[in-house]
Amino acid sequence: MSKYVLPELNYDYAALEPSISARIMELHHSKHHAAYVAGANAALEQMAEARDKNDFAVINKLQKDLAFHLSGHINHSIFWTNLAPTNTDRPEGELAAAIAEFFGSFEAFQAHFNAAAMGIQGSGWAFLAWDSVGSRLIIEQLYDQQSNVATGSIPLLMLDMWEHAFYLDYQNVKGDYVKAFWNIINWSDVSARFELARAKTKGLLVG
Ligand code: MN
Repeated sequence: MSKYVLPELNYDYAALEPSISARIMELHHSKHHAAYVAGANAALEQMAEARDKNDFAVINKLQKDLAFHLSGHINHSIFWTNLAPTNTDRPEGELAAAIAEFFGSFEAFQAHFNAAAMGIQGSGWAFLAWDSVGSRLIIEQLYDQQSNVATGSIPLLMLDMWEHAFYLDYQNVKGDYVKAFWNIINWSDVSARFELARAKTKGLLVG
């Protein structure tokens, strides 16, 4: 059975300072993300055991564990590649045109994204997604790691709004964390994800 693996980062833990400190990056990647990888693997193993024993008494717990931990693994894997020490300030090309088309302007997109991020009650994520059914960009609020999203959404740009992502640096002033996020976005990664999602998902779910 293939195992989920903690991905290496493309940059050092200190590379995103001062926007995100090395201490947060180290804890976030080597402890939190690693725990989601371990949790997803454990859920799969326990499901295999349940099938072997034909005993599904705790299947609801295992399904929840898999959704939580696997989503945690996926979200963080996307988040790390969405970030870079030096960004280009604004998206370019087709992604820039699509943001203007579906949100009116980059500024309107940014305001909407910030409001979605700041509005999350408790733990969650804000993200820009490609809606493969409507063939459009949308913004979503992800509760915990896995709730409150449409099933056809492909995440393109994700912001972790769990307190572990910012509290050591920003305490309760999460608006400053959201503001700093815009300084470390790897727009070429977001663009590549956008081009791939748009090209590969048309008609995949709803013809
Ligand atoms: Mn996190």
